[in-house]
Amino acid sequence: MTRVEPNSYSPYATAALDVRHLFAMPAWLMASPRPGELAQTACGELAVIPEAPIKIEPGEAMPEGMCGTCVKARNADVVVAPSATTADCSECGLGTCHGPLCALCRTDLHDQWRLNNTTGRLDEASDAPEAAAEQEAGVVRVEGEAP
Ligand SMILES: [Zn+2]
Ligand SMILES: [Zn+2]
Repeated sequence: MTRVEPNSYSPYATAALDVRHLFAMPAWLMASPRPGELAQTACGELAVIPEAPIKIEPGEAMPEGMCGTCVKARNADVVVAPSATTADCSECGLGTCHGPLCALCRTDLHDQWRLNNTTGRLDEASDAPEAAAEQEAGVVRVEGEAP
C-alpha cells in the first residue's frame, strides 16, 4: 500500500497537519485547481492544496496517511459541514467555526504568508496578459472591405 505525504504546512490551516486531506470543492472550482492555496477539506477544515492530487480509482483502497474523516466523507459521498459557528472572526467579524479567524480571512492571510515565503512561484502569470492586451489595442483591423 502506498503512503501519501501530509498537506503542506500553513500557519492558517485548521486541518490536522500530520495526515493528507481530500478537498471538497464545488465542480466549478475544480476547473482551476491552484496548488498551494488554502481550501476546504472534506472533513470541514482548511488545508493547503497539494501540487499533485491523489488519484484513487473506484474500489481502490485508500493509501496510508489519509485523514480518516475525509476518507469516510468520500466513501459516503458527503461533505462534512463545517461545525457550528463558535466565534466571530477577529479580522472581519463574520461568525466562524475556524477559531479566531474565518475561512476567507485565513485564505487571504495564507496567500500573503505564501507570497512572503516563496520566491518567484506566484509571478509567472502576473505580467503576460497585460502586455498582450496593450499590443492588441494598438492594432486596428479592417475587415470585410474586400470587393
Ligand atoms: Zn480531513
Ligand atoms: Zn474573517
